[in-house]
Amino acid sequence: MKFGVPYNRAKTIARTELAHVANLAREVAYRTQTNVEKFVYWTEPDACEVCKRIAQKTRYGVRLDELKWIIKMEAGGTARGFLSHPNCRCIPVRKNKVKRSMRDWESFKITRILR
Ligand SMILES: [Zn+2]
Repeated sequence: MKFGVPYNRAKTIARTELAHVANLAREVAYRTQTNVEKFVYWTEPDACEVCKRIAQKTRYGVRLDELKWIIKMEAGGTARGFLSHPNCRCIPVRKNKVKRSMRDWESFKITRILR
């Protein structure tokens, strides 16, 4: 069936929109369910230069609003909430993250199930 959108484009849209919503949910959960104040940008080892720069700038921990602002400053027009560009896999996580002690919703990545 044809819908006028190439398959890869559709996949990018679905992945990006779902990751955006997951980040919004994560933000609400952090704000309402925890007292965490400092966050870092958690990137994959093969993340792009822009995301690595954001991670570098937030490495000592910043507040969620600050993190969004830094993403906006670094990524410009492609930034959307905590995503710096379409297909972005980076997420805001608590500073001093100890992966094994994080709750499921903290480390959940939509891009791990929607490849
Ligand atoms: Zn990136």
